[in-house]
Amino acid sequence: MQTIDEALNKLEKSKFRSSFYLTKAEKQYVRDKGIDTIREHARDFVSKRLAPAQIDNDGKQTPMRGHPVFKAQHATGCCCRGCLNKWYKVPKGVELTKSQQEKIVNLLMAWIIRQMNR
Ligand SMILES: [Zn+2]
Repeated sequence: MQTIDEALNKLEKSKFRSSFYLTKAEKQYVRDKGIDTIREHARDFVSKRLAPAQIDNDGKQTPMRGHPVFKAQHATGCCCRGCLNKWYKVPKGVELTKSQQEKIVNLLMAWIIRQMNR
C-alpha cells in the first residue's frame, strides 16, 4: 500500500497528470471557502460521481474545470472508474466502500494543499 506522498510523487512523473494546476482564482476559491468546505465538496463528488457500481457516463463525469476538486481528480487519476482502475487497481463495477472513498478524498485534498503551497 503506497502512502499519499508516494502516490503524488508517482503522479508527478506522468506528463498528463502533472499538467494540471490550480489557477490563482481557484486558489482564492479554496481560501474563501476554507479547506473543510472543500473537503465536503470532495466527499460529495466522490460519493455521487465515483462511488456507485454503475456510472452511465463513466470517463466523462468529471469536468476539466469549474472546481478545484475536479482538477485534483484529473491530476490524481481519480476522475473516473477507468482511471481509478488503471492507477490504483480499484475494480470497476463494484461500489466503493466508505474507506476507499475517504482515501480518495485524502489524496485529492493532499494534492490541493500541495498546490496551495506553491
Ligand atoms: Zn478518468
